[in-house]
Amino acid sequence: MNSRKRYTGLIDNYRHRLPINNKTKVISLGEGNTPLIKIRNIMSTLDKHVDIYVKYEGLNPTGSFKDRGMTMAVTKAIESDAKAIICASTGNTSASAAAYAARAGITAFVLIPDGKIAQGKLVQAMVGGAVVIQIKGNFDDGMRLVKEVADKAPVTIVNSINPFRLQGQKTAAFEIIEELGKPPDFHYLPVGNAGNITAHWIGYSECAATDSKQVTKACAYCKGDCSYIDGSSPGVRPKMVGYQASGSAPFIRGNMVDKPETIATAIRIGHPQSWDYAWIVDEESGGWFDECNDEEILAAQKMLAEREGIFCEPASAISLAGVLKDVESGKIPENSLIVCTLTGHGLKDPDTAIKQSTAPVVQVEATLEKVKSAILDNM
Ligand SMILES: *Cc1c(COP(=O)(O)O)cnc(C)c1O
Repeated sequence: MNSRKRYTGLIDNYRHRLPINNKTKVISLGEGNTPLIKIRNIMSTLDKHVDIYVKYEGLNPTGSFKDRGMTMAVTKAIESDAKAIICASTGNTSASAAAYAARAGITAFVLIPDGKIAQGKLVQAMVGGAVVIQIKGNFDDGMRLVKEVADKAPVTIVNSINPFRLQGQKTAAFEIIEELGKPPDFHYLPVGNAGNITAHWIGYSECAATDSKQVTKACAYCKGDCSYIDGSSPGVRPKMVGYQASGSAPFIRGNMVDKPETIATAIRIGHPQSWDYAWIVDEESGGWFDECNDEEILAAQKMLAEREGIFCEPASAISLAGVLKDVESGKIPENSLIVCTLTGHGLKDPDTAIKQSTAPVVQVEATLEKVKSAILDNM
């Protein structure tokens, strides 16, 4: 009988490129190895030929890319005997922290903004047994409090300021290069705290580097002396493009935003924690930051679901909205290879999606005649 090797998560898959050793007890739920899907039907709306792939990170165990970082952060927390972890969250970090803490047998404390969290994410934190602390404030207030309390109490922060988070998240870039056989020309991501855009850049930089001193200045873990140079795509890195929601766009405004607002709650962040690193990514990669408004975000989310069968949450859709904008405006040359990260699953936020849906729900009597005519009337 043929048996394919069982996939056991990104730490096992990239052991030699991550800060662990043979004694490290790995806390994993099989995260990573997500599909890279080529966009087909939406291409007819563009007047230029480009290749667009979406990395469907919503298919991680708790439905977002946060799991890539959380497997590393919790593995390292356990290695240093932590009994509890803590995070501030717009939802997905708390969902992931709850699951990995449950798996590790420790406690997760999660601070979430009162009312501004999608239902699917809240329920995940609750069923995972996390202690949910709902604060009368936004993500940025939560983040400030988490940093203050972690100074005073024996809890490990698992937000993306924990450098192990980005070490785990960098593996998405490894998977993309392995599947495409090379890095893309452009990589588009939604930007909130800017941890993920930084993590991808670290990953791409390790693959491009042939010298440990020249990887990237954006890595808080190696601090300019990288242990993981790989050299599989020497000298070649994508331009990194970060998109923000207009009401929550500190990188576009050039300064912090005190009252961020957007329907894309996962990126409703006004004081990004990886501010300095993201500017380094911008400069080193030759990419840019730009914005989309909520209508453009929701239109892209709907388009992905209706025309490609891919359901992501609003924040994720901004990466495709950004690509469509930049292809149209001429910023992207003909024949470019583009990857968009779809950061989280659409089922995280069913309320927003149902409000947007125009799909017909036809109510009829339970008779053959009525069902048949409902079909014929809607062909
Ligand atoms: C966390 C998150 C983001 C933002 O990522 P950052 O690393 O904070 O920039 C975007 N989309 C989703 C779905 C998220 O959960």
